[in-house]
Amino acid sequence: MSRVSPRSSLRAIPSVDRILRELGDIDLPRPVILAIIRRELDSVRADASKPDGNAPDFAIDTFSRIRAAIDDLRRARIQPVINGTGIIVHTNFGRAPLGALVAQSLVEVAANYNSLEFDLITGERGGRGAYLEHNLAILCGAEAATVVNNCAAALVLALRHFAGKGPRNRVIISRGELVQIGGGFRIPEILEASGAELAEVGTTNRTTADDYRRAIDDRAAMILRVHPSNFYMEGFVESPALPALAAVAREAGVPLVVDLGSGATFDTRSLGDEHEPTPADTLARGADLVTFSGDKLLGGPQAGILAGSAPLVAALKKEPFFRALRCDKLILAALQATVDLLLDGRHDEIPIRRMMSIPIDQLQTRAERIVTALHGSTLRISISRGRSQVGGGSLPRTVIPTVTLDFELVSPDDLATRLRLGTPPIIGYTAADRFKLDLRTMFPHQDEQLVAALRAVTLPKSTS
Ligand SMILES: *Cc1c(COP(=O)(O)O)cnc(C)c1O
Repeated sequence: MSRVSPRSSLRAIPSVDRILRELGDIDLPRPVILAIIRRELDSVRADASKPDGNAPDFAIDTFSRIRAAIDDLRRARIQPVINGTGIIVHTNFGRAPLGALVAQSLVEVAANYNSLEFDLITGERGGRGAYLEHNLAILCGAEAATVVNNCAAALVLALRHFAGKGPRNRVIISRGELVQIGGGFRIPEILEASGAELAEVGTTNRTTADDYRRAIDDRAAMILRVHPSNFYMEGFVESPALPALAAVAREAGVPLVVDLGSGATFDTRSLGDEHEPTPADTLARGADLVTFSGDKLLGGPQAGILAGSAPLVAALKKEPFFRALRCDKLILAALQATVDLLLDGRHDEIPIRRMMSIPIDQLQTRAERIVTALHGSTLRISISRGRSQVGGGSLPRTVIPTVTLDFELVSPDDLATRLRLGTPPIIGYTAADRFKLDLRTMFPHQDEQLVAALRAVTLPKSTS
Protein backbone atom coordinates (compact mmCIF):
# COMPACT_ATOMS: atom_id res chain seq x y z
CA MET A 1 0.00 0.00 0.00
CA SER A 2 1.36 3.38 -0.94
CA ARG A 3 0.48 6.55 0.82
CA VAL A 4 -1.33 8.91 -1.47
CA SER A 5 -2.65 12.34 -0.64
CA PRO A 6 -6.40 12.41 0.04
CA ARG A 7 -6.93 14.56 -3.03
CA SER A 8 -5.29 12.14 -5.47
CA SER A 9 -6.86 9.11 -3.81
CA LEU A 10 -10.29 10.67 -4.27
CA ARG A 11 -9.53 11.05 -7.94
CA ALA A 12 -8.68 7.34 -8.10
CA ILE A 13 -12.21 6.36 -7.09
CA PRO A 14 -13.94 4.92 -10.16
CA SER A 15 -17.14 6.42 -11.52
CA VAL A 16 -20.58 4.87 -11.05
CA ASP A 17 -20.80 4.16 -14.76
CA ARG A 18 -17.48 2.41 -14.87
CA ILE A 19 -18.38 0.29 -11.87
CA LEU A 20 -21.71 -0.64 -13.40
CA ARG A 21 -19.97 -1.71 -16.60
CA GLU A 22 -17.40 -3.78 -14.78
CA LEU A 23 -19.95 -5.50 -12.57
CA GLY A 24 -21.68 -6.96 -15.61
CA ASP A 25 -25.03 -8.72 -15.26
CA ILE A 26 -26.33 -9.02 -11.72
CA ASP A 27 -29.72 -10.43 -10.83
CA LEU A 28 -30.75 -7.49 -8.69
CA PRO A 29 -32.93 -4.54 -9.74
CA ARG A 30 -30.83 -1.71 -11.14
CA PRO A 31 -31.93 0.90 -8.55
CA VAL A 32 -30.78 -1.53 -5.85
CA ILE A 33 -27.36 -1.95 -7.45
CA LEU A 34 -27.06 1.82 -7.87
CA ALA A 35 -27.95 2.39 -4.23
CA ILE A 36 -25.25 -0.05 -3.12
CA ILE A 37 -22.65 1.55 -5.39
CA ARG A 38 -23.46 5.05 -4.12
CA ARG A 39 -23.42 3.92 -0.50
CA GLU A 40 -20.07 2.19 -0.88
CA LEU A 41 -18.58 5.12 -2.82
CA ASP A 42 -19.67 7.48 -0.07
CA SER A 43 -17.98 5.41 2.57
CA VAL A 44 -14.82 5.02 0.44
CA ARG A 45 -14.74 8.82 0.03
CA ALA A 46 -15.22 9.30 3.74
CA ASP A 47 -12.29 6.95 4.43
CA ALA A 48 -10.12 8.64 1.82
CA SER A 49 -10.61 12.11 3.22
CA LYS A 50 -9.51 11.13 6.71
CA PRO A 51 -6.23 13.01 7.24
CA ASP A 52 -4.23 9.91 8.19
CA GLY A 53 -6.18 7.57 5.94
CA ASN A 54 -4.04 4.85 4.44
CA ALA A 55 -4.94 4.93 0.80
CA PRO A 56 -4.92 1.48 -0.77
CA ASP A 57 -5.49 0.92 -4.47
CA PHE A 58 -8.88 2.58 -4.61
CA ALA A 59 -9.99 1.25 -7.96
CA ILE A 60 -9.57 -2.39 -6.92
CA ASP A 61 -10.56 -1.93 -3.31
CA THR A 62 -13.73 0.00 -4.10
CA PHE A 63 -14.69 -2.58 -6.63
CA SER A 64 -14.30 -5.52 -4.27
CA ARG A 65 -16.18 -3.69 -1.51
CA ILE A 66 -19.10 -3.15 -3.86
CA ARG A 67 -19.02 -6.77 -5.04
CA ALA A 68 -19.08 -7.98 -1.46
CA ALA A 69 -21.97 -5.66 -0.56
CA ILE A 70 -23.95 -6.91 -3.55
CA ASP A 71 -23.25 -10.55 -2.69
CA ASP A 72 -24.33 -9.95 0.90
CA LEU A 73 -27.59 -8.40 -0.20
CA ARG A 74 -28.30 -11.22 -2.66
CA ARG A 75 -27.85 -13.71 0.17
CA ALA A 76 -30.45 -11.86 2.24
CA ARG A 77 -33.10 -12.68 -0.34
CA ILE A 78 -35.51 -15.48 0.64
CA GLN A 79 -34.42 -18.44 -1.46
CA PRO A 80 -34.56 -22.23 -1.40
CA VAL A 81 -31.98 -23.91 0.82
CA ILE A 82 -31.04 -27.55 1.30
CA ASN A 83 -31.78 -28.54 4.88
CA GLY A 84 -29.20 -31.06 6.06
CA THR A 85 -29.78 -30.34 9.75
CA GLY A 86 -32.11 -33.28 10.34
CA ILE A 87 -34.66 -30.95 11.92
CA ILE A 88 -37.83 -31.63 9.95
CA VAL A 89 -39.94 -28.59 10.90
CA HIS A 90 -37.18 -25.98 11.00
CA THR A 91 -38.38 -22.56 12.12
CA ASN A 92 -35.48 -20.78 10.39
CA PHE A 93 -36.17 -22.56 7.10
CA GLY A 94 -39.87 -21.72 6.84
CA ARG A 95 -41.21 -24.66 8.90
CA ALA A 96 -43.20 -27.09 6.74
CA PRO A 97 -42.28 -27.14 3.03
CA LEU A 98 -45.30 -27.64 0.78
CA GLY A 99 -45.64 -30.65 -1.49
CA ALA A 100 -45.98 -30.46 -5.27
CA LEU A 101 -49.77 -30.84 -5.32
CA VAL A 102 -50.28 -28.17 -2.69
CA ALA A 103 -47.83 -25.79 -4.39
CA GLN A 104 -49.59 -26.35 -7.69
CA SER A 105 -53.02 -25.49 -6.33
CA LEU A 106 -51.54 -22.39 -4.77
CA VAL A 107 -50.08 -21.32 -8.11
CA GLU A 108 -53.36 -21.92 -9.93
CA VAL A 109 -55.31 -19.76 -7.52
CA ALA A 110 -52.57 -17.14 -7.47
CA ALA A 111 -52.27 -16.80 -11.24
CA ASN A 112 -56.00 -16.61 -11.99
CA TYR A 113 -59.09 -14.89 -10.74
CA ASN A 114 -60.72 -17.23 -8.28
CA SER A 115 -63.87 -17.82 -6.27
CA LEU A 116 -62.41 -16.54 -2.98
CA GLU A 117 -65.59 -14.73 -1.92
CA PHE A 118 -67.98 -15.71 -4.66
CA ASP A 119 -70.76 -18.30 -4.47
CA LEU A 120 -70.88 -20.10 -7.81
CA ILE A 121 -74.35 -21.47 -7.08
CA THR A 122 -76.14 -18.21 -6.37
CA GLY A 123 -73.83 -15.97 -8.36
CA GLU A 124 -73.56 -13.75 -5.33
CA ARG A 125 -71.00 -12.86 -2.75
CA GLY A 126 -69.97 -16.00 -0.85
CA GLY A 127 -68.25 -16.89 2.39
CA ARG A 128 -64.48 -16.57 2.28
CA GLY A 129 -62.87 -19.98 2.65
CA ALA A 130 -66.21 -21.71 3.29
CA TYR A 131 -65.09 -25.02 1.76
CA LEU A 132 -61.86 -25.01 3.75
CA GLU A 133 -63.68 -24.25 6.99
CA HIS A 134 -66.14 -27.05 6.33
CA ASN A 135 -63.39 -29.62 5.72
CA LEU A 136 -61.17 -28.37 8.53
CA ALA A 137 -64.04 -28.92 10.94
CA ILE A 138 -64.27 -32.54 9.77
CA LEU A 139 -60.51 -33.00 10.16
CA CYS A 140 -60.74 -31.66 13.72
CA GLY A 141 -63.89 -33.54 14.65
CA ALA A 142 -65.37 -30.11 15.40
CA GLU A 143 -68.70 -28.43 14.71
CA ALA A 144 -66.90 -25.54 13.07
CA ALA A 145 -63.48 -24.15 12.30
CA THR A 146 -61.88 -21.02 10.91
CA VAL A 147 -58.45 -19.73 10.01
CA VAL A 148 -56.30 -16.69 10.79
CA ASN A 149 -52.68 -15.76 10.12
CA ASN A 150 -50.90 -17.95 12.65
CA CYS A 151 -51.51 -19.67 15.94
CA ALA A 152 -50.43 -16.59 17.90
CA ALA A 153 -53.15 -14.63 16.10
CA ALA A 154 -55.68 -17.39 16.80
CA LEU A 155 -54.88 -17.18 20.49
CA VAL A 156 -55.05 -13.38 20.53
CA LEU A 157 -58.44 -13.52 18.81
CA ALA A 158 -59.80 -16.00 21.36
CA LEU A 159 -58.41 -13.96 24.26
CA ARG A 160 -59.84 -10.69 22.96
CA HIS A 161 -63.19 -12.27 22.37
CA PHE A 162 -63.58 -13.98 25.72
CA ALA A 163 -61.46 -11.81 28.00
CA GLY A 164 -60.44 -8.65 26.16
CA LYS A 165 -63.35 -6.41 27.10
CA GLY A 166 -65.55 -5.60 30.02
CA PRO A 167 -65.05 -6.51 33.66
CA ARG A 168 -65.00 -10.26 33.03
CA ASN A 169 -61.43 -10.43 31.81
CA ARG A 170 -59.58 -12.94 33.95
CA VAL A 171 -57.90 -15.84 32.17
CA ILE A 172 -57.18 -18.75 34.47
CA ILE A 173 -53.99 -20.56 33.60
CA SER A 174 -51.57 -22.88 35.40
CA ARG A 175 -48.19 -21.47 36.45
CA GLY A 176 -46.66 -24.44 34.63
CA GLU A 177 -48.04 -23.15 31.34
CA LEU A 178 -46.81 -19.56 31.39
CA VAL A 179 -44.27 -20.46 28.77
CA GLN A 180 -42.27 -18.93 25.97
CA ILE A 181 -42.67 -20.49 22.55
CA GLY A 182 -40.00 -19.64 20.00
CA GLY A 183 -38.67 -16.10 19.66
CA GLY A 184 -40.70 -13.40 21.35
CA PHE A 185 -43.90 -15.35 21.96
CA ARG A 186 -44.60 -15.40 25.68
CA ILE A 187 -47.99 -16.55 26.88
CA PRO A 188 -48.27 -14.00 29.74
CA GLU A 189 -47.32 -11.13 27.41
CA ILE A 190 -49.77 -12.20 24.69
CA LEU A 191 -52.43 -12.46 27.32
CA GLU A 192 -51.86 -8.98 28.67
CA ALA A 193 -51.51 -7.48 25.20
CA SER A 194 -54.98 -8.87 24.43
CA GLY A 195 -56.49 -6.92 27.31
CA ALA A 196 -56.92 -9.98 29.50
CA GLU A 197 -55.88 -10.25 33.11
CA LEU A 198 -53.75 -13.17 34.11
CA ALA A 199 -55.03 -15.36 36.96
CA GLU A 200 -52.20 -17.81 37.69
CA VAL A 201 -53.02 -20.97 39.58
CA GLY A 202 -51.03 -23.86 41.00
CA THR A 203 -47.26 -24.09 40.86
CA THR A 204 -44.71 -24.65 38.13
CA ASN A 205 -44.79 -28.42 38.51
CA ARG A 206 -48.17 -29.17 40.07
CA THR A 207 -51.63 -27.78 39.45
CA THR A 208 -54.87 -29.52 40.42
CA ALA A 209 -58.48 -29.15 39.31
CA ASP A 210 -59.19 -27.59 42.72
CA ASP A 211 -56.59 -24.91 42.07
CA TYR A 212 -58.55 -23.91 38.99
CA ARG A 213 -61.88 -24.19 40.85
CA ARG A 214 -60.72 -21.88 43.63
CA ALA A 215 -59.70 -19.23 41.10
CA ILE A 216 -63.18 -19.01 39.61
CA ASP A 217 -64.94 -15.76 40.55
CA ASP A 218 -67.35 -13.44 38.80
CA ARG A 219 -64.53 -11.94 36.77
CA ALA A 220 -63.37 -15.29 35.38
CA ALA A 221 -63.62 -15.17 31.59
CA MET A 222 -62.00 -18.38 30.43
CA ILE A 223 -59.70 -21.24 31.32
CA LEU A 224 -56.67 -21.51 29.08
CA ARG A 225 -54.55 -24.62 28.75
CA VAL A 226 -51.32 -24.29 26.77
CA HIS A 227 -49.70 -27.42 25.44
CA PRO A 228 -46.03 -27.58 26.52
CA SER A 229 -44.77 -27.92 22.94
CA ASN A 230 -41.07 -27.31 23.22
CA PHE A 231 -40.18 -28.68 26.64
CA TYR A 232 -41.23 -31.36 29.07
CA MET A 233 -41.40 -31.77 32.82
CA GLU A 234 -40.57 -34.93 34.61
CA GLY A 235 -40.66 -36.05 38.22
CA PHE A 236 -43.06 -34.58 40.78
CA VAL A 237 -45.51 -33.17 38.27
CA GLU A 238 -49.27 -33.09 38.09
CA SER A 239 -51.97 -31.38 36.09
CA PRO A 240 -55.63 -32.28 35.83
CA ALA A 241 -56.74 -34.51 32.97
CA LEU A 242 -58.58 -32.56 30.31
CA PRO A 243 -62.07 -33.94 31.17
CA ALA A 244 -61.61 -32.86 34.81
CA LEU A 245 -60.59 -29.38 33.69
CA ALA A 246 -63.53 -29.27 31.28
CA ALA A 247 -65.82 -30.10 34.20
CA VAL A 248 -64.48 -27.11 36.16
CA ALA A 249 -65.07 -24.86 33.14
CA ARG A 250 -68.62 -26.14 32.69
CA GLU A 251 -69.50 -25.67 36.39
CA ALA A 252 -68.19 -22.12 36.17
CA GLY A 253 -69.87 -21.39 32.84
CA VAL A 254 -66.61 -20.28 31.18
CA PRO A 255 -65.06 -21.68 28.01
CA LEU A 256 -62.05 -23.97 28.08
CA VAL A 257 -59.61 -23.00 25.34
CA VAL A 258 -56.66 -25.27 24.57
CA ASP A 259 -53.70 -23.88 22.68
CA LEU A 260 -52.23 -26.99 21.08
CA GLY A 261 -49.57 -25.27 18.99
CA SER A 262 -48.31 -28.12 16.84
CA GLY A 263 -51.64 -29.47 15.62
CA ALA A 264 -50.68 -33.09 14.96
CA THR A 265 -53.62 -34.83 13.31
CA PHE A 266 -51.95 -38.27 13.57
CA ASP A 267 -50.81 -40.43 16.44
CA THR A 268 -47.31 -39.17 17.20
CA ARG A 269 -46.56 -42.39 19.09
CA SER A 270 -45.79 -43.85 15.66
CA LEU A 271 -42.54 -41.84 15.97
CA GLY A 272 -41.65 -42.46 19.59
CA ASP A 273 -43.16 -42.44 23.05
CA GLU A 274 -44.34 -38.88 23.06
CA HIS A 275 -48.03 -38.30 22.65
CA GLU A 276 -49.15 -35.06 21.14
CA PRO A 277 -52.88 -34.57 21.62
CA THR A 278 -54.75 -34.11 18.33
CA PRO A 279 -57.35 -31.35 17.89
CA ALA A 280 -60.07 -34.03 17.57
CA ASP A 281 -58.98 -35.77 20.83
CA THR A 282 -58.81 -32.49 22.65
CA LEU A 283 -62.29 -31.41 21.59
CA ALA A 284 -63.72 -34.87 22.30
CA ARG A 285 -62.26 -34.72 25.81
CA GLY A 286 -64.05 -31.49 26.62
CA ALA A 287 -62.26 -28.43 25.20
CA ASP A 288 -64.61 -25.80 23.79
CA LEU A 289 -62.05 -24.40 21.39
CA VAL A 290 -58.60 -25.44 20.19
CA THR A 291 -55.95 -23.36 18.45
CA PHE A 292 -53.00 -24.70 16.45
CA SER A 293 -50.57 -23.82 13.67
CA GLY A 294 -50.98 -24.69 10.00
CA ASP A 295 -47.26 -25.09 9.38
CA LYS A 296 -46.07 -27.28 12.20
CA LEU A 297 -47.18 -30.91 12.36
CA LEU A 298 -50.17 -30.29 10.09
CA GLY A 299 -47.63 -29.74 7.31
CA GLY A 300 -49.37 -26.86 5.52
CA PRO A 301 -48.77 -23.13 5.08
CA GLN A 302 -48.42 -20.65 7.95
CA ALA A 303 -51.86 -20.28 9.49
CA GLY A 304 -53.64 -20.36 12.81
CA ILE A 305 -56.60 -22.68 13.06
CA LEU A 306 -59.46 -22.30 15.52
CA ALA A 307 -61.85 -25.24 15.88
CA GLY A 308 -64.66 -25.95 18.28
CA SER A 309 -68.32 -25.33 18.88
CA ALA A 310 -70.29 -23.66 16.08
CA PRO A 311 -71.58 -20.68 18.12
CA LEU A 312 -68.08 -19.94 19.45
CA VAL A 313 -66.47 -20.04 16.01
CA ALA A 314 -69.27 -17.89 14.56
CA ALA A 315 -68.82 -15.34 17.33
CA LEU A 316 -65.04 -15.24 16.80
CA LYS A 317 -65.58 -14.55 13.12
CA LYS A 318 -67.78 -11.57 14.00
CA GLU A 319 -65.01 -9.94 16.07
CA PRO A 320 -63.81 -6.76 14.35
CA PHE A 321 -60.31 -8.03 15.06
CA PHE A 322 -60.90 -11.11 12.91
CA ARG A 323 -60.78 -8.91 9.80
CA ALA A 324 -57.28 -7.79 10.70
CA LEU A 325 -56.03 -11.33 11.21
CA ARG A 326 -57.58 -13.09 8.24
CA CYS A 327 -55.51 -15.05 5.69
CA ASP A 328 -55.04 -14.21 2.08
CA LYS A 329 -56.15 -16.37 -0.86
CA LEU A 330 -52.74 -18.02 -1.33
CA ILE A 331 -52.73 -19.37 2.21
CA LEU A 332 -56.36 -20.46 1.99
CA ALA A 333 -55.66 -22.29 -1.29
CA ALA A 334 -52.60 -24.09 0.11
CA LEU A 335 -54.34 -24.97 3.36
CA GLN A 336 -57.41 -26.21 1.51
CA ALA A 337 -55.23 -28.57 -0.56
CA THR A 338 -53.34 -29.73 2.54
CA VAL A 339 -56.49 -30.47 4.52
CA ASP A 340 -57.98 -32.44 1.63
CA LEU A 341 -54.83 -34.56 1.32
CA LEU A 342 -54.94 -35.27 5.06
CA LEU A 343 -58.63 -36.20 4.91
CA ASP A 344 -57.87 -38.50 1.98
CA GLY A 345 -55.11 -40.21 3.95
CA ARG A 346 -52.51 -39.14 1.37
CA HIS A 347 -49.88 -38.36 3.98
CA ASP A 348 -47.02 -39.07 1.62
CA GLU A 349 -47.97 -35.96 -0.34
CA ILE A 350 -47.23 -33.87 2.76
CA PRO A 351 -43.43 -33.48 2.80
CA ILE A 352 -42.96 -33.38 6.57
CA ARG A 353 -45.08 -36.50 7.00
CA ARG A 354 -43.17 -38.32 4.29
CA MET A 355 -39.85 -37.27 5.84
CA MET A 356 -40.90 -38.65 9.20
CA SER A 357 -41.53 -42.09 7.75
CA ILE A 358 -38.78 -42.69 5.15
CA PRO A 359 -37.24 -46.09 5.98
CA ILE A 360 -33.61 -45.99 6.95
CA ASP A 361 -32.48 -48.32 4.15
CA GLN A 362 -33.76 -45.85 1.56
CA LEU A 363 -31.67 -43.14 3.17
CA GLN A 364 -28.69 -45.49 3.23
CA THR A 365 -29.06 -46.21 -0.51
CA ARG A 366 -29.18 -42.52 -1.32
CA ALA A 367 -26.15 -41.84 0.86
CA GLU A 368 -24.18 -44.55 -0.95
CA ARG A 369 -25.15 -43.12 -4.32
CA ILE A 370 -24.01 -39.65 -3.27
CA VAL A 371 -20.69 -40.99 -2.00
CA THR A 372 -20.16 -42.86 -5.29
CA ALA A 373 -20.97 -39.71 -7.27
CA LEU A 374 -18.33 -37.83 -5.27
CA HIS A 375 -15.66 -40.36 -6.13
CA GLY A 376 -12.42 -38.62 -6.97
CA SER A 377 -13.15 -35.54 -4.90
CA THR A 378 -10.74 -34.62 -2.14
CA LEU A 379 -13.48 -34.92 0.48
CA ARG A 380 -13.03 -37.52 3.19
CA ILE A 381 -16.57 -38.67 3.51
CA SER A 382 -18.25 -41.49 5.38
CA ILE A 383 -21.80 -42.62 6.08
CA SER A 384 -23.08 -43.00 9.61
CA ARG A 385 -26.22 -43.21 11.69
CA GLY A 386 -27.74 -40.18 13.35
CA ARG A 387 -30.89 -38.84 14.93
CA SER A 388 -33.36 -36.54 13.17
CA GLN A 389 -35.73 -34.38 15.17
CA VAL A 390 -39.27 -33.25 14.50
CA GLY A 391 -38.49 -29.60 15.35
CA GLY A 392 -40.80 -26.59 15.24
CA GLY A 393 -40.97 -26.79 19.01
CA SER A 394 -42.79 -30.13 18.78
CA LEU A 395 -42.08 -33.51 20.35
CA PRO A 396 -38.84 -32.44 22.08
CA ARG A 397 -38.00 -35.97 23.21
CA THR A 398 -38.68 -37.77 19.95
CA VAL A 399 -35.67 -38.72 17.81
CA ILE A 400 -35.97 -40.51 14.48
CA PRO A 401 -33.05 -42.76 13.47
CA THR A 402 -31.43 -41.48 10.30
CA VAL A 403 -28.43 -41.64 7.98
CA THR A 404 -25.88 -38.86 7.75
CA LEU A 405 -23.04 -37.99 5.41
CA ASP A 406 -20.03 -37.20 7.59
CA PHE A 407 -17.15 -35.08 6.38
CA GLU A 408 -13.85 -35.50 8.11
CA LEU A 409 -12.05 -32.23 8.11
CA VAL A 410 -9.37 -30.30 9.85
CA SER A 411 -11.84 -27.48 10.03
CA PRO A 412 -15.49 -28.57 9.68
CA ASP A 413 -16.63 -24.96 10.08
CA ASP A 414 -14.85 -24.04 6.90
CA LEU A 415 -16.85 -26.51 4.81
CA ALA A 416 -20.02 -25.44 6.62
CA THR A 417 -19.40 -21.84 5.62
CA ARG A 418 -18.56 -22.62 2.00
CA LEU A 419 -21.68 -24.76 1.57
CA ARG A 420 -23.85 -22.17 3.26
CA LEU A 421 -22.59 -19.47 0.90
CA GLY A 422 -23.00 -21.67 -2.18
CA THR A 423 -25.92 -21.92 -4.61
CA PRO A 424 -28.20 -23.36 -3.43
CA PRO A 425 -27.14 -22.82 0.17
CA ILE A 426 -26.68 -26.09 2.05
CA ILE A 427 -26.94 -26.15 5.81
CA GLY A 428 -25.74 -29.00 7.98
CA TYR A 429 -24.38 -29.28 11.49
CA THR A 430 -21.13 -30.06 13.22
CA ALA A 431 -20.80 -32.83 15.79
CA ALA A 432 -17.76 -34.68 17.09
CA ASP A 433 -15.45 -32.77 14.73
CA ARG A 434 -17.40 -33.87 11.69
CA PHE A 435 -19.54 -31.76 9.42
CA LYS A 436 -22.77 -33.72 8.92
CA LEU A 437 -25.65 -33.67 6.46
CA ASP A 438 -28.80 -35.59 7.41
CA LEU A 439 -30.37 -37.40 4.45
CA ARG A 440 -33.85 -37.41 6.00
CA THR A 441 -34.44 -33.67 5.63
CA MET A 442 -32.82 -33.29 2.22
CA PHE A 443 -35.25 -33.95 -0.63
CA PRO A 444 -34.15 -36.75 -3.00
CA HIS A 445 -34.68 -34.33 -5.89
CA GLN A 446 -31.91 -32.19 -4.36
CA ASP A 447 -29.29 -34.97 -4.39
CA GLU A 448 -27.83 -33.89 -7.73
CA GLN A 449 -27.56 -30.29 -6.62
CA LEU A 450 -25.95 -31.50 -3.43
CA VAL A 451 -23.34 -33.51 -5.30
CA ALA A 452 -22.63 -30.57 -7.62
CA ALA A 453 -22.26 -28.20 -4.68
CA LEU A 454 -19.94 -30.57 -2.83
CA ARG A 455 -17.79 -30.98 -5.93
CA ALA A 456 -17.72 -27.24 -6.48
CA VAL A 457 -16.39 -26.48 -3.00
CA THR A 458 -13.74 -29.19 -3.03
CA LEU A 459 -12.44 -29.55 -6.55
CA PRO A 460 -10.27 -27.06 -8.41
CA LYS A 461 -12.38 -24.87 -10.70
CA SER A 462 -11.11 -26.45 -13.92
CA THR A 463 -12.39 -29.93 -13.08
CA SER A 464 -15.71 -29.01 -11.51
C1 LIG B 1 -45.93 -22.73 18.05
C2 LIG B 1 -46.92 -22.43 19.08
C3 LIG B 1 -47.65 -21.23 19.05
C4 LIG B 1 -47.40 -20.18 18.01
O1 LIG B 1 -47.77 -20.63 16.75
P1 LIG B 1 -47.49 -19.72 15.45
O2 LIG B 1 -48.22 -20.41 14.35
O3 LIG B 1 -46.02 -19.71 15.27
O4 LIG B 1 -48.01 -18.37 15.72
C5 LIG B 1 -48.58 -21.01 20.03
N1 LIG B 1 -48.80 -21.92 21.00
C6 LIG B 1 -48.12 -23.10 21.07
C7 LIG B 1 -48.43 -24.05 22.19
C8 LIG B 1 -47.16 -23.39 20.11
O5 LIG B 1 -46.48 -24.55 20.16
